[in-house]
Amino acid sequence: MPKMFKKKEEEKVFKVRRGKFVSRLRGMKDILPDEYKYWNLVIKKASELSKAYGFRRVDTPVLESWELFERSSGRSSDVVTKEMFSFIDKNNDKIALRPEATPGIVRAYIEHGMFNLPQPVKLFWLGPVFRHDKPQAGRFRQFSQFNLENIGEPSPVADAELIAVTYYFFRELQIDVTIQINSIGCPLCRKDYLVKLENFYKERGRRVKLCHDCKKRLIKNPLRLLDCKEKLCVEMASEAPQIVDGLCDDCRNHFIKVLEYLDELDMPYNLHSTLVRGLDYYNRTVFEIWPTPAESQATKSADAAAPKKDELPRQAALGGGGRYDGLVEYMGGRPTPACGFAIGLERVILKIKEKNIPLQDEEKGDIFLAQLGDQARRKIMKLFEVLRKAGFNTRQAFTKDSLKSQLEIANKMGVKYTLILGQKEIMDGTILIRDMESGIQEIIDYKKIVAEIEKRLGNPAK
Ligand code: AMP
Repeated sequence: MPKMFKKKEEEKVFKVRRGKFVSRLRGMKDILPDEYKYWNLVIKKASELSKAYGFRRVDTPVLESWELFERSSGRSSDVVTKEMFSFIDKNNDKIALRPEATPGIVRAYIEHGMFNLPQPVKLFWLGPVFRHDKPQAGRFRQFSQFNLENIGEPSPVADAELIAVTYYFFRELQIDVTIQINSIGCPLCRKDYLVKLENFYKERGRRVKLCHDCKKRLIKNPLRLLDCKEKLCVEMASEAPQIVDGLCDDCRNHFIKVLEYLDELDMPYNLHSTLVRGLDYYNRTVFEIWPTPAESQATKSADAAAPKKDELPRQAALGGGGRYDGLVEYMGGRPTPACGFAIGLERVILKIKEKNIPLQDEEKGDIFLAQLGDQARRKIMKLFEVLRKAGFNTRQAFTKDSLKSQLEIANKMGVKYTLILGQKEIMDGTILIRDMESGIQEIIDYKKIVAEIEKRLGNPAK
């Protein structure tokens, strides 16, 4: 192809490539390298705690059948009616991006016959979920959750264990939280309560004051009225009959036992009479984790008054969960008691940033390898692998040529020693070791590098 023509063709291609910039979608977030230290910290904490408490990691697909969520989360839940990212695929199947993890985990439990394993099956899950919500601070359309699910255990110990793990997660990340807890009973005792609740809302013209959504909820699912975030609805809900007053003996005993365990473990909780959670599958224990407002420290007491609704918006919850004893059977499995929780990792990270909690800088190393000249660079690239494999926290800047810029980088990375290799050292079979604090440099035998570093830094394998 003639040169001129080739150039024109290339220009054409570049013109197309340099077209209009396409930005990220609303409510979506990029996680840039500087932010990863927060993610690594919370993921590490979640993994360590899950392992210590016997939860084993599981992953499920991002895409699931729409019906899975419609059936589990509830046809009238906000998640299903307003927030689901769903579409019809090329096979005409209705598909959804998972808005929460529990339905997929329960599906996997049934589909892989996990009921044949010794019960309970304790699962740890971590991944992105998607909700077409109104984006604002701490509310995204793609966000990540850390879930623990205990499937197959009816005892209140399981509820308490989950709440304790959640609490330890926050405490160890130095975030002050309070546990908001309630019991919404079982379908049997809830039946009578729902009649009382409906009567309450029909009394003295309360119904007209309800928001548009709550008017519909009153017909379809009155319990949801307690979960509404609209100001007038919140006010009315605070006067509504309390569900805990109508619990049957079994549900009351279960709840008391959970609270007793929490007392024993010194967990700060508030009995929160209108906490119901927004999903259909919950029964008995429900809980949320709220950040403790700096000015009002947590009260550790079973009879502490529930915080006023406007004191801390429920949207600020860091996590939540509860018991879902009917879900496995409802989704086609055997009758199986279960409970679980989800924590929103973006909100946890926002809290860590807000509180300026000091984090270990993961980019920091112990040794930096600097080179001068191409031959030295090749040798240093090999040495880097040797030291890395030996377990030393080694850093480099292979693409840099000048020693000055390499030492600057080494300084930034806070290393204790820099090994410097130039033409002279190659000829002599040596290498320089520079103490970065004192600036003192010594010549060492190239073959004895590992032993020399071990002498100064200790053996990383020990
Ligand atoms: P949920 O499944 O709604 O109970 O949510 C559990 C946790 O996920 C919440 O307590 C939040 O920490 C987090 N979360 C829920 N919705 C969002 C959102 N739109 N953006 C960011 N985090 C969220």
